[in-house]
Amino acid sequence: MRKRALAVGLGIAGMSAALGLRRAGWTPVIIERSPQRRTGGYFVNLMPEGMKAAADLGLDNLDTRNPERGTTWSLNHRGHRRPALGWLDLPGRPTAMVRGDVEVALWHQISDDGVEVRFATAPAEIVEDDTAVDVLLDDASTGNRYRESFDLVVGADGLRSSVRGLTFGPHARFMTTWNAMVCAFALPEQAPSFGAQDSLISARAGRAVWVFGLADRAPTALLTYCTKALDEQFTGDGTERLRAVFDDMDHPAVRHVLDALPTTPDHLFDSVHQVKMERWSTGRVVLAGDAAWCLTLFSGMGTTAALRGGVELGRALAEHPDDLDGALAAREARLRPFITAHQRMARLKQQCFVPTNRALEAVRTLAMHVAVNARRTVTETRLLRAAAEAPHGV
Ligand SMILES: Cc1cc2nc3c(=O)[nH]c(=O)nc-3n(C[C@H](O)[C@H](O)[C@H](O)COP(=O)(O)OP(=O)(O)OC[C@H]3O[C@@H](n4cnc5c(N)ncnc54)[C@H](O)[C@@H]3O)c2cc1C
Repeated sequence: MRKRALAVGLGIAGMSAALGLRRAGWTPVIIERSPQRRTGGYFVNLMPEGMKAAADLGLDNLDTRNPERGTTWSLNHRGHRRPALGWLDLPGRPTAMVRGDVEVALWHQISDDGVEVRFATAPAEIVEDDTAVDVLLDDASTGNRYRESFDLVVGADGLRSSVRGLTFGPHARFMTTWNAMVCAFALPEQAPSFGAQDSLISARAGRAVWVFGLADRAPTALLTYCTKALDEQFTGDGTERLRAVFDDMDHPAVRHVLDALPTTPDHLFDSVHQVKMERWSTGRVVLAGDAAWCLTLFSGMGTTAALRGGVELGRALAEHPDDLDGALAAREARLRPFITAHQRMARLKQQCFVPTNRALEAVRTLAMHVAVNARRTVTETRLLRAAAEAPHGV
């Protein structure tokens, strides 16, 4: 008899976990709270570890969207544009895509693997005994509740994970507060006067607007700002609130982004938190992705980590076929150093996205200036060397 696992959440972590489970010879069932699969989404970058994990999970059809041309521009206080370095210039060859690109590739793979997916379904209760984990499932499409037994439950239901809440304890115990908000959405079109694949950054103390230029589709936008009054941010008209926060960034590109927000069919607006846990599993319940270790958007490693989580789950279960505790401990031991390092790095990377005060804004501006000039010098030196070495000159 194949062992059965319930993966809660049809995001990158849930589908990656399901593929890992399949590769270990298990039968996964995915439940998803929403009535249908989501599409689209915001810019994400995958690092080489993420591309490797995607390949390990059998994803050979990932759409990548690194701009083939286009410049990254920084908009200064006077509204002038200057060449800048963007997220894709970070060391390590990041690959650009949108979240939906990764999800659609995973979706095709789980469909090929015959993984069962139940929509409009969420766990209401999780009870474990010596031999199995019994889950009370809530089917919102019929209003029915039913119980089902599994050998393992994987909680991959995001930052505010209900599996974590039902099994490990209240969110407040694990979600650290970063006093920051994020709003991310796809733009219908590029900001006026910029190239289709250009990226734009307007970063001031405590707030920033980013536009990520992409190949073969319109850019996506990301607004982020710092605030201690988190609860207040979820009251009233969100667009008006954002207009007030970015009021002094009086640039046509920023206005373009703010004007586009109410017209987008879907956007993400949320507070920023990191999830910190001493253990990601207890008995027959294990957490994955943002539910377990949310790194924050500033890290730029959440997708990579979610894919790797699926690979390591499958590998550990295959290596310890008759020892679930041993398998989950082995998975955690392999992932923990990677996650801890990126949780630490996220604080530093946050300053690339949004300098949290004026002093850091000045440091960021200076660092950007130095980095852009250094890159220009390297490029010019390469060109001069190539010209000198060419047999007949260039
Ligand atoms: C604005 C933004 C930008 C980002 N940029 C990057 C980037 O550049 N690079 C990068 O690597 N990462 C980035 N990330 C992080 C990355 O998107 C996530 O880490 C990654 O998608 C993994 O998410 P997940 O699958 O764990 O959770 P989610 O994507 O939140 O998926 C959880 C799923 O579970 C479902 N669900 C929730 N509750 C229940 C329930 N009770 N029952 C059933 N289903 C449920 C949800 O509907 C959803 O489908 C970014 C994140 C944000 C918000």
